[in-house]
Amino acid sequence: MDEQHQRSWAEPFKIKMVEPIRMTARADRERFIAEAGYNTFLLRSEDVYIDLLTDSGTSAMSDQQWAGMLLGDEAYAGSRNFYHLEDAVRKYYGYSYLVPTHQGRGAEHILSQIAIKPGDFVPGNMYFTTTRLHQELAGGTFVDVIVDEAHDPAADYPFKGNVDLEKLQELIDRVGAEHIPYVSVAATVNMAGGQPIAMENLREVRKLTKIHGIRVILDAARAIENAYFIQQREPGYHDTPVAKILREMCSYTDGCTMSAKKDALVNIGGFLALNDANLYDEARNLVVVYEGLHTYGGLAGRDMEAMARGIEESVSDDHIRARVGQVEYLGRKLQEADVPIVRPIGGHAVYLDARRFYRHIPQDEYPAQALAANIYLDSGVRGMERGIVSAGRDPQTGENHHPSLELVRLTIPRRVYTQAHMDVVAESVVEVYRHRAEARGLKIVYEPKYLRFFQARFDPLD
Ligand SMILES: *Cc1c(COP(=O)(O)O)cnc(C)c1O
Repeated sequence: MDEQHQRSWAEPFKIKMVEPIRMTARADRERFIAEAGYNTFLLRSEDVYIDLLTDSGTSAMSDQQWAGMLLGDEAYAGSRNFYHLEDAVRKYYGYSYLVPTHQGRGAEHILSQIAIKPGDFVPGNMYFTTTRLHQELAGGTFVDVIVDEAHDPAADYPFKGNVDLEKLQELIDRVGAEHIPYVSVAATVNMAGGQPIAMENLREVRKLTKIHGIRVILDAARAIENAYFIQQREPGYHDTPVAKILREMCSYTDGCTMSAKKDALVNIGGFLALNDANLYDEARNLVVVYEGLHTYGGLAGRDMEAMARGIEESVSDDHIRARVGQVEYLGRKLQEADVPIVRPIGGHAVYLDARRFYRHIPQDEYPAQALAANIYLDSGVRGMERGIVSAGRDPQTGENHHPSLELVRLTIPRRVYTQAHMDVVAESVVEVYRHRAEARGLKIVYEPKYLRFFQARFDPLD
């Protein structure tokens, strides 16, 4: 290691506005979590001390973004902020056509409706909750084609987001390319633990799909974090700026759905971007039905301005190093205490492996759900379940999916918390781990039909 590597780094910003947060007493938290049905999604934010529920829409905007909010052109049609956003997407992602949407699932909805026919199959590198649901609502069937390593939380593979090309080829042979509207490629893969896909793998996916005339659509929510991992881990990219890596990644795809609430540093917003003029025409038409005119897509002009500026900031190497570096900092602290986490440490979150954390709680008693509740009880830190509750049920059989990954996600908002907050989180998780033998499972007492993890309620088992 050279001298440079032994020096500390710090965030490339300073703080000029603060929002007080509240510490609560354990007795209060016992009441709050019971009232929330042991589901951290149903807690009130003001009862949470450090909020690691999600990095979605929870990032801190910069002074430049806030200044842009005052420059909103709130015209119904043809807002100047739309054109600024369109320029930013063309410049940094490289796609030709842009349809703004209120957030990522708005783009998923439109894409699924225009591209998927009933009976189609949509292969993807692991499912994402809203993405798969929109594919299913359009009559499609999601098929997981991620590499096997992704399902093993202890496997130390650097690109666990990779598509298994044999699985993809097998699906093409089985159902025929005409029944595969596109391959859904996420970068990074949220449900696998924020794991990246390699550039080489993307290139191979492009090669294979090109032969069969199948499109590739990128889930770009965290593509810049993915680009950073490529820069750090893939031979040949160490001196390439993340902005350039991002452009190359996108060049192997035909379009993307984007939740700008992730990489793009805004509190609301998303888009669908496409290269095909005909598909864009259909998207531009359908967005009017569900989101709004194609030059605002459910957003205010000021929201689009903040997004355009956020995209520009998000591709800065200094920004992304500090962002992923903070996640690594928390992950390393937990590893040093032998807390079982998904390896390698992901880009946006540290994922606790609830199967190994609570070996005595069977998956049907929701160990990850119980673990998220117990961390909240210990310290007021809020994480979320990513296991059997999130996986939901098979729409055909009604049976529970039993995912191999049973995780609690501690997700770090961008530019919001300090290293001291991370220390507090780590200490709390270690404390809960120390008391693991006393933990009990849960039973479900209310289950909504769609995306149950958001609103389900539980009771502790005796
Ligand atoms: C958040 C997310 C989405 C959905 O985006 P929303 O803005 O929440 O609607 C889709 N894919 C991935 C990988 C995400 O993390």
